[in-house]
Amino acid sequence: QTNSITLLGLGSMGTALARAWLAAGTSLTVWNRTPNRAQALASEGATVAPTAAEAVAAGRLVVVCLLDDESVGAALDGIDLSGKDLVNLTTGTPAQARARAEWARERGARFLDGGIMAVPPMIGVPDSGAYVFYSGSEDLFTEHREALAVPAGTTFVGVDPGYAALHDVALLSAMTGMFAGVAHAFALVRREDIAPTGFASLLADWLAAMTASVHLAAEQLETGDYTTGVVSNLAMQVAGNATLLRTAAEQRVSPELLTPYMALMERRLAAGRGDEDTTGVIDLLAVG
Ligand code: NDP
Repeated sequence: QTNSITLLGLGSMGTALARAWLAAGTSLTVWNRTPNRAQALASEGATVAPTAAEAVAAGRLVVVCLLDDESVGAALDGIDLSGKDLVNLTTGTPAQARARAEWARERGARFLDGGIMAVPPMIGVPDSGAYVFYSGSEDLFTEHREALAVPAGTTFVGVDPGYAALHDVALLSAMTGMFAGVAHAFALVRREDIAPTGFASLLADWLAAMTASVHLAAEQLETGDYTTGVVSNLAMQVAGNATLLRTAAEQRVSPELLTPYMALMERRLAAGRGDEDTTGVIDLLAVG
């Protein structure tokens, strides 16, 4: 049973986490490099520690939500972590998480890394869809799971401390590609007599309908046969790309967000894989 939490970092995300724990009646000790950000939370029931060392000393479960991995190292530098359960909700790379786990182990702490799949207004809101990928110490996770589940859902993805960051960044990377496609789509229609709000509904529904392709790609990756279940083969899709590019030119829109992906599709087609799905592009992305 976790009855007290120490939280380091009261930026937008840290503050949202703090409010969720306070609302649930958790005894919370907070610290922030710039002290005035903690004042509002003090009046809401948090204990404000003057230094990170004092905050860490206040409890066993220590959650950090700082800007980046470098700030985690800076904030915890020289602090006694022996016997602590350190949960790092700071976004970083898988390698940074693995190195931070080793760093924590050397200091006698158990370590759990987390990747937050939410924006601050979703934190502590039931059914908002907010959740956190966790990886690293499964014992730590199991022991503090109830407390960790207060601000957002919990999804444990493995004992490799790098896996939470890897899942987090993989999803964010897919989102980046989707945002690129959305930007191009709006650019195509914006100079016309087409209301962006009405168009947005069509776009959102279309993107949602297309997510089924994610599962088909996964099945093809698992069997290694990229020709099963293909509904639009690569040869047809590459031919279709020409229409996308001509339309961009007609609408005086730069194709620069589309062309890198199209170039990979063409390379795969040139390798004689026209009967496959676009899944083959994934093979081409492996470097080294
Ligand atoms: P903010 O920029 O709002 O806050 C950054 C926090 O880090 C502040 O508390 C800041 O302290 C602290 N900080 C920065 N550098 C140092 C340092 N060298 N030493 C000590 N403290 C430092 O960021 P967020 O709260 O939004 O984000 C925090 C983490 O959560 C990030 O890793 C972010 O990627 C992740 N996250 C954020 C999301 C969001 O939508 N906001 C979504 C998902 C994850 P000070 O007040 O003194 O500047």
